This record gives sequence, structure tokens and C-alpha cells, in this order.
Amino acid sequence: MIEVHTGDITQLSVDAIVNAANRSLLGGGGVDGAIHRAAGSRLLEACRKLKGCETGEAKITPGFDLAARFVIHTVGPVWHGGEAGEAELLASCYRRSFELALDKAVRSIAFPGISTGVYGFPKDQAADIAVGIMREYEDRFERIIACCFSEEDARRYRERLQLK
Ligand code: ADP
Repeated sequence: MIEVHTGDITQLSVDAIVNAANRSLLGGGGVDGAIHRAAGSRLLEACRKLKGCETGEAKITPGFDLAARFVIHTVGPVWHGGEAGEAELLASCYRRSFELALDKAVRSIAFPGISTGVYGFPKDQAADIAVGIMREYEDRFERIIACCFSEEDARRYRERLQLK
């Protein structure tokens, strides 16, 4: 089932939360900063060992102090106008995150709006891509949560999922 939740992804009790990280995997602002703060300093230690991550790829760590057992760190594309493979790279973030989750037998997973903050990806197009890939994986998970930080973002997902 695909659900829409409005709120802070760090507070969710799910098997895995996805982090919209940067290529260094050493923390940043936005959702990345919030996840590192909530997971504690062991997350940064674990991320150092991963030696970064390419755009469109994903890596997994424990969730440490989070309720979530795992954090899946994926690096979304920076929006450069849409002709630089941004859509394919964003789709790849969702796919690679789902594949890592399946490897770890994750049953419930929450995603933020990857690339839709500082990275500037247009939110409507990002939601189209996110929902498209979520649909592809829907049958393989108990719960897939689109975690939105604002009610406006949540509405965008609900429209696409035809939820009220
Ligand atoms: P990016 O660099 O990939 O654009 P950002 O962290 O800047 O990542 O933003 C990604 C999305 O995460 C934005 O839609 C932002 O509103 C949202 N966001 C920020 N903090 C949180 C949080 N604590 N929980 C869920 N979503 C968040």
C-alpha cells in the first residue's frame, strides 16, 4: 500500500527511511541534516566508511538512534533545466533504494521528496516520477510512505495516488 504522510521523516516507525543525501554522504542541510541529528553520531561514522555515493545510486546503513532499522542514502540529481538526465537519475534513486530495501527484507519504507529541496527539481515532475516507481514496487512491500514536509506537497501526492 502507498500512503502519504505529512511530517518529519525521522519520527516514522518503519523498517527503513530514505535520505536525500549528497555525494559525500557526510551530512548536509534539509532532510539529510535532520536524519543525522536524529540518528546520532554513529550514523556519520558509518557513512564515512561508505566513501561517498554517485548520483542516482544508493547505499544503506543502520538507523542507529532512529526508530527505523535502516537508513538508505540516495543522491538525487541537482536540477540543471531537465536536459541533463535529471528525470532518469531521480527514477534511479527510487529504484536503487527499493532494491536495497528488498535485499534487507524491508517491509515498510518511507521516502522524502528526493531532490525537491535545495536541489531544485520541479515538484510536480518529481512527484510523477516518485509515484510511478512506487507503483512498480507496491506489491513487494507492506507499506510505502511518501513522507511530505508540507501539506501542499502531500496534496500533490494524494492527487496522483487518487487518495482523498
Ligand atoms: P535535496 O538536496 O535532495 O533537494 P532537501 O533536504 O533540500 O534535499 O529537500 C528534500 C525534500 O525533503 C524537500 O521537499 C523538503 O521539504 C523535505 N524535508 C526537509 N526536511 C524534512 C524532514 N525532516 N522530513 C521529511 N521531509 C523533509
